[in-house]
Amino acid sequence: MDIPRIFNITESAHRIHNPFTPDKFATLGAALRLEAGTRVLDLGSGSGEMLCTWARDHGVIGTGIDMSPLFTAQAKLRAEELGVAHQVRFIHGDAAGHVSDEKAGVAACVGATWIAGGVAGTIELLERSLRPGGIILIGEPYWRQLPPTVDVAKECFATSISDFLVLHELVASFGNLGYDVVEMVLADQDGWDRYEAAKWLTMRRWLEANPDDEFAAEVRAKLSSEPARYAAYTREYLGWGVFALMRR
Ligand code: SAH
Repeated sequence: MDIPRIFNITESAHRIHNPFTPDKFATLGAALRLEAGTRVLDLGSGSGEMLCTWARDHGVIGTGIDMSPLFTAQAKLRAEELGVAHQVRFIHGDAAGHVSDEKAGVAACVGATWIAGGVAGTIELLERSLRPGGIILIGEPYWRQLPPTVDVAKECFATSISDFLVLHELVASFGNLGYDVVEMVLADQDGWDRYEAAKWLTMRRWLEANPDDEFAAEVRAKLSSEPARYAAYTREYLGWGVFALMRR
């Protein structure tokens, strides 16, 4: 079981697989006023940076589940490196439908809400692993500026303008689902650069090391087109943030 290979190539050197930077995860951890011993569940935990740094900085415990064997292996190494391997566990698997036996104080899906068919389905899924009074974290894109045409939306890898909302609509949508938005931390364009531009050097190095790979032509084409596409579209039009929710 694995995610499409292109992500394992382009994001192999990423610690954080979204437009957050380490300071944003630190800000979020502080904003949530995490207490030592709080159990955190993370669906689509990637390379485990959020869980590992929060375990180190706030003494949380918890579990991350991710479908990429590569990212899961990197998460385990990171836990060892930060000396928190006794606090956090990383499981390679499909997080769709995952409900944990031990209820969490924080249940998160940070940049992977397709796991349960979108934001509403993901909130419902996380709720089933949450203890009463717990906090749900949703990491999700929104339109920083509404794209003027559907073609511009497609350049941001959306299928249509309606794939995403503008920020105030996204925030209001959580209310419509019966949740208070109790905190939020938003990425900025520098963070987008860390996420997107870091892929370019990784692709370049990968091409040099794997010239005869069957994926080489695809990676070559991507490296040639991505910087200009990103600068013109994603960087300008797409925002991203993590929203902390508590049921009303
Ligand atoms: N939350 C992480 C990773 C976000 S990227 C971070 O902030 O760094 C999205 C992640 O979802 C990737 O790591 C990908 O491997 C994982 N993923 C995709 N589909 C999944 C599924 N069905 N179950 C579990 N993880 C999945």
